[in-house]
Amino acid sequence: MEERGVDWGPSNGYEIQEYQLSPSSWNRFEECPRKYWLSRQRLPKKIGMPIVIGNAVHNSVEDICNIDMSDRDISEKEWLPKLSAEILSNHWQLQKDIFFEMKRHSGWKKNSYNKAREGLNKALLMLLSQAKILEVDLSKITIGMWNKVREIILANEGTMNSNCGKLMGRLDLLLKDLDQDGNQIGWIVVDLKTGRPPKDNLSETVNRQLRFYRDLLILINPNHPPIRTEGWYTSNQTMYEAIGDSVTKDAFDAWASIELTEDPFQATPQEFVCGFCEWKAWCPKWFVAVHDETLKRHKTFNDEVVTLINFDSEEGLASFKLMIPDGLDGELRDSEKSFGAFLSNQSLNQLRELQNMGYDGPLFLGSTRVDGEVRYLGDWSEILPWNPLLKSIRQ
Ligand code: SF4
Repeated sequence: MEERGVDWGPSNGYEIQEYQLSPSSWNRFEECPRKYWLSRQRLPKKIGMPIVIGNAVHNSVEDICNIDMSDRDISEKEWLPKLSAEILSNHWQLQKDIFFEMKRHSGWKKNSYNKAREGLNKALLMLLSQAKILEVDLSKITIGMWNKVREIILANEGTMNSNCGKLMGRLDLLLKDLDQDGNQIGWIVVDLKTGRPPKDNLSETVNRQLRFYRDLLILINPNHPPIRTEGWYTSNQTMYEAIGDSVTKDAFDAWASIELTEDPFQATPQEFVCGFCEWKAWCPKWFVAVHDETLKRHKTFNDEVVTLINFDSEEGLASFKLMIPDGLDGELRDSEKSFGAFLSNQSLNQLRELQNMGYDGPLFLGSTRVDGEVRYLGDWSEILPWNPLLKSIRQ
């Protein structure tokens, strides 16, 4: 990581608290306190292609920015596309290895590599434009032009900690903020975003995330120049500035609420949040909410809690009995309903593995595709033991 005249707060664990508030843990806690509590239980995490793309792009930008080119001919062209392709290819392979090492993952989509390449190229073009270089053909970028980009980079990929250790944030890029004439007027905190851009303005959560980075930097750099903060969305190559009051006081207040307790935090089931929650197999509350109709049942893709009736491991055919909640804590009772399912790829392997381990308890089926009386489970689905967690398992 490059760093010039920027303080990052205490390192090497000095004064770091047992738990810290980051923008993502803050958002998770606000979405559903139980979701945050479960995320801290060291349960197996899930990875999908958006994370792979994001990591590959971020790590590639970091590597490209860190290469020292001072001994190269400043008029040299056509080096950037080759260098970025090599670096991205290495990071893609690393991310692929991590992906398949993780037990919980979606299907691997090799075409996503094109999205990562496009994202990286656009991130580089955005960096170039920040340095007032508006050439859009990366093969025409000279070493001399790139040196100008390196001159505006104060730091990339740095972890900031508040001096008290309670707040932490990972910053993608800290750049010199230049006026029209190229004079430095301050710093810009940049967060690279490879996901879907906002329609108009940044969402409240992203806006607060960016201000969190800005305010944390201010906290540990009392003699800072003026600081702005922007989200750079690579997909539409647009920079969105986050403006607003300091979030520091709210962040410290939030830190005081997230200390883990033995008992689970309150669950607040909501359609969208539960839909994307990776901890459903450990949370009884969404299941109760589906059955008391607080949450809607979807027509095409459904999560279920079931017991296995039959399983043809060779053919990938199974029949399941639907279970219903018995009380509020994840206990189950039989329903009269059952369904047949075709299993393939990841789902089939997961059920085979559970059988081989001798597991015969209830199952959580994530994202079954409903087609009339039958269901399909494939790479988009997952099969896990139903395991409601009612006490912390952290030591
Ligand atoms: S499934 Fe819903 S209620 Fe349960 S932890 Fe996740 S977000 Fe909260």
